[in-house]
Amino acid sequence: MQHFPIFLDLAGRRVIVSGGGEAALAKLRLLLKTQARITVFADQPEEEIRQWASEGRLIWHARGLEAGDAFCAALFYAANEDDAEDLRVTKLAQADGALTNWVDNLGASQFITPAIVDRDPVTIAIGTEGAAPVLARKIKRDLEDLLPVSLGVLARIGKGFRKAAEALPFGAKRREFWAEYYASTGPEALARDGESGVAAALDELLESHLAQAPKQGRVALVGAGPGDPELLTLKARRALDEADVVIHDRLVSSEILELARREAVLIDAGKKGFGPAMAQDEICALITEHAATGAYVVRLKSGDAGVYGRLDEEIDALETAGIAWSIVPGITAASAAAAQIGQSLTKRDRNSALRFLTGHDVKGFAEHDWRSLARAGEVAAIYMGKKGARFIQGRLMMHGAAPDTPVTVVENASRPTAKVLSSSLARLPADLEAADLSGPAILLYGLAPRQARLALPLLKKDHA
Ligand code: SAH
Repeated sequence: MQHFPIFLDLAGRRVIVSGGGEAALAKLRLLLKTQARITVFADQPEEEIRQWASEGRLIWHARGLEAGDAFCAALFYAANEDDAEDLRVTKLAQADGALTNWVDNLGASQFITPAIVDRDPVTIAIGTEGAAPVLARKIKRDLEDLLPVSLGVLARIGKGFRKAAEALPFGAKRREFWAEYYASTGPEALARDGESGVAAALDELLESHLAQAPKQGRVALVGAGPGDPELLTLKARRALDEADVVIHDRLVSSEILELARREAVLIDAGKKGFGPAMAQDEICALITEHAATGAYVVRLKSGDAGVYGRLDEEIDALETAGIAWSIVPGITAASAAAAQIGQSLTKRDRNSALRFLTGHDVKGFAEHDWRSLARAGEVAAIYMGKKGARFIQGRLMMHGAAPDTPVTVVENASRPTAKVLSSSLARLPADLEAADLSGPAILLYGLAPRQARLALPLLKKDHA
């Protein structure tokens, strides 16, 4: 993020616009929505600007900007649509200490003006760092359609009621009150009785919320999928939207955590200060303690919550504590990895069964039914298998698996950093060592990348 979005208080501040043509007009139309003291420098301004000046909405000087004119100004716009003149005035304004924008010259601007959706006091600013103004305009159009014009009115009335709403305890209770106001009570009262009806509806709504019994905490055990936020389920998305507390694993991607409600407390259960990961019983305690305060806790696990996620231990702890819980399944790494290499996990006449294995468990390298897995055509998704690759290879070959059985390693499946290592049982340990993968990786035993996929700019390893 090169440009950091902020909302600047312009009430009573000076804003200077140099120029009087179309570019200046466009900026002035926006600036006139604020309470800034606007000054325009232009020899021959458009008629509208003269009109605004005569109405006292801005001050107009019929000359070019000179040194000292932008003194004490908060913002300055160079809008002469003339490079030489815009360069000259930008330098002067910067010398006067104003923050400068050169209209349609991103590189020479200290700040840029976003596309704006105005439902005052609700204001949405959309920026693309200048990369895609067309996209910004499309997003603006979509949002304009999405947000009813009445939203501004409701927000203004709501703002005046904030003090009264503090009678409700901070957190979930208060949020629920406001959510109901904006979703139904507010719009309905406005449509029925106009602005004057909204205040009465707010009073009534507050009464009913104050009368409600305190809320019970609950926990959603949610699968966050393999990393791509678009692979979240709608239920997971909603849970993140509503969470008071999100307790997540190390593997949950930052793009997904971004989607959590802004006020939600985020806790990384994969980390403990700068030391080792939190122990499972500490995590269980953390979940139950937060839920016991009445919070809605989202326990976010990578992939599917029920695949190598120690889900039962957490459910047992919740049952013991008498806390309500539910599971939201997610897309497991095996599915994402198979998709990444363009393959199906099962296939008629090849494998009608599919196994999920773990490379190691609490006791070390994990033992499995190697004999049946060594038969031709078997497919297994091996989680946490990188370290145990040599052990797995040894066991399978000992039971007669063909050395040229394909094994594909997919690292960071579904993420922009995904890498595919196409190997075989015989070469697996050496290939893995050479590739030196540091991200989460899954081994797809018995599956090779579909040929076309090998042409993709992924990590290729094919010694034929
Ligand atoms: N519940 C998770 C698995 C947790 S165990 C799921 O259903 O996917 C952690 C292991 O999952 C990692 O060691 C790795 O083997 C695998 N894994 C998780 N995310 C992955 C990803 N994006 N790409 C490849 N493997 C992944």
